[in-house]
Amino acid sequence: MRLLEYQGKELFEEYGIPIQKGYVVDDKSDAIASAEKFGYPIVLKAQLRVGGRGKAGAVVVCKSKEELEKEFERLYGMEVKGEKIEKFLVAEFLDIAKELYFSIFLNRSKRCHSIIASAKGGVDIESVEEKVIEDIDIEEDNSDIVKKISSYLGLEGKSYNDFIDIATKLIKFVDEKEAELAEINPLIIKDDGSLAALDSKVIIDDNALFRHEELKQYEELSSLEVEARRSGFSLVELDGDIAVIGNGAGLVMSTLDMLSDANGKAACFLDVGGTATTESVYKALTLISKMPRVKAILVNLFGGIVRTDVVAEAIVKAYKDEVISMPLFARILGAESEKAREILKDSPAKMYDAVEEAINEAVRSIR
Ligand code: GDP
Ligand code: MN
Repeated sequence: MRLLEYQGKELFEEYGIPIQKGYVVDDKSDAIASAEKFGYPIVLKAQLRVGGRGKAGAVVVCKSKEELEKEFERLYGMEVKGEKIEKFLVAEFLDIAKELYFSIFLNRSKRCHSIIASAKGGVDIESVEEKVIEDIDIEEDNSDIVKKISSYLGLEGKSYNDFIDIATKLIKFVDEKEAELAEINPLIIKDDGSLAALDSKVIIDDNALFRHEELKQYEELSSLEVEARRSGFSLVELDGDIAVIGNGAGLVMSTLDMLSDANGKAACFLDVGGTATTESVYKALTLISKMPRVKAILVNLFGGIVRTDVVAEAIVKAYKDEVISMPLFARILGAESEKAREILKDSPAKMYDAVEEAINEAVRSIR
């Protein structure tokens, strides 16, 4: 889940990281009222998940109410890389002595976190040669590394100390919120030598979201996810091709991990809750039918209350009604499993005793 700039900044502030302050607005009169609280100039910043806002002209300094009105009208509803501008941050204008770059990301190949820092901020970090990359264990004390980076950046006095403070807090943030990326670009040095985050780019690990009730407010639900919620399910759309259905968050999460270990890519995960009934499973399959990318369905149901034959009937009905046509691989542990096998015998659905088997067959069906 990629957060918007203002959401990332809200979290930074909770961790005591100084930020460029601002008000979130979605209409012009609120924008003007907010600007008046700061006094002009202000910076009008479109809130977008896609990158390169500045280059697209969606971050503008406004010196007067007239300029703000004009820029708001120009930008509102405009599309940047397919994303529509509907929200803005009206931010205080800060004097910048220097722009730095600082980020922490989850380095999956190395199974650690890495820090990237550069004395050349405000531009695309890929294009910058002068940067330092340090691998860290976020759960350990990293004060020596952080001090080293602060020196590398050529910081002195207040700037040197501020950097250490911000870096330490950002490491804690990444650890606690399970962020895949926390980027501050630019991290600015003001005229008095103090540092502040002028921007934020935060990506939270989708598979960790269920552990963070406090981040739910930032979730942007797709229409399908909203529909699932109305049925009492919890659905998260992902970009793979195997739909994962299970009952209970823990079971669904572990199935997802196992699927990923078997090199399968989940199209979504759908938790139908405690009891799986004919209606709930049928509804789940209906939701999945609305995701064109799904090529196979993996079902993992477990628990004393699951009547396997009832689930099997729902699956057969979904094929008969042509709700779904793709193969389905199921591990359903519960009562009446012999009867269920009989029901599914002539359908594109197969039942397995072990979830590993169901996963391997699902992955194989796609290759
Ligand atoms: P991005 O284009 O999405 O990365 O948006 P940023 O929030 O990083 O802003 C882009 C650039 O606008 C920054 O690198 C700054 O150069 C400039 N900018 C934004 N806010 C301010 C401000 O308060 N004061 C000054 N002087 N420049 C700003
Ligand atoms: Mn930026």
